[in-house]
Amino acid sequence: MDVCPSATMALLKDNFTGGLQLGNRPDVLTCTSWKAPIIWHGTFNPDVAQQKARQQNLTIGLTVFAIGRYLGKYLERFLESAERHFMVGQRVVYYVFTEQPDAVPHVALGPHRQLRVEFVAREQRWQDVSMARMHTLHQALGRRLGRETQFVLCMDVDQHFIGPFGPEVLAESVAQLHAWHYHWPRWLLPFERDARSAAALAPHEGDFYYHAAVFGGSVAALRRLTAHCALGLRQDRARGLEALWHDESHLNKFFWLHKPAKVLSPEFCWSPDIGRRAEIRHPRLLWAPKEYAEVRD
Ligand code: UDP
Ligand code: MN
Repeated sequence: MDVCPSATMALLKDNFTGGLQLGNRPDVLTCTSWKAPIIWHGTFNPDVAQQKARQQNLTIGLTVFAIGRYLGKYLERFLESAERHFMVGQRVVYYVFTEQPDAVPHVALGPHRQLRVEFVAREQRWQDVSMARMHTLHQALGRRLGRETQFVLCMDVDQHFIGPFGPEVLAESVAQLHAWHYHWPRWLLPFERDARSAAALAPHEGDFYYHAAVFGGSVAALRRLTAHCALGLRQDRARGLEALWHDESHLNKFFWLHKPAKVLSPEFCWSPDIGRRAEIRHPRLLWAPKEYAEVRD
């Protein structure tokens, strides 16, 4: 059961401080209206999360799609940086989904870390590649990925790690605040507004705008999430519709209906193009520059 950081902090102070002083973050929102923690640098103790994960003997999955020119341009840096920062000290299985298995770079993996390559057919349009991920992930979670992991993070490939991304992010379901939109008023957020779409949110709906470049959770929760999004995408297609931000629109609808158990601050997936912000103290993942002309047809 996840509790808000304020409550977690109290627990940490009572039970675990061990000399570690955690500053709290009065400058930012650290708890949602449904009492899920929004984790920012300084609101959690990474050592406690690390220890808890080890005790549970977790295997953590990290899925990434690298199709077409995205593979050559981004995959190696994504994986190499993940080796330095993603769940260091835990058991990890990378799942790389690609139509070019032979082109997957050989990255030296640390102990208890494995990489599996899963073949997927290539969709023609980049939007279709992006959207097809939900169905592919749903199937994979029903197979080996679902059997050999307990928690899974699903990520875009056009980013790389620059700071620790550890078990503090784990929860039954995990959503990422979108770096460009976390401080925008609700009415401006780019939710799908066409009421005919399965992803539609009415003007008074929506908690936060979440970024599809990072989401995660338990295998069971992700099975539900990916089933919901894949179904919505299929329904829209049958009606000749495509939501504004494709799979991300459906992900946002899912998290409106089924609130995430943990929310990651934009520090966990930051865009350097935004420039400096006082509340962004310790970025973990950085977006690659958007060079769409190089990777999209
Ligand atoms: N992707 C891919 N090949 C494509 C299009 C997309 O591998 O032709 C994957 C890749 O993991 C990428 C993700 O789908 O990071 C989402 O697409 P993109 O990053 O271009 O979307 P954006 O972040 O700009 O919304
Ligand atoms: Mn991306």
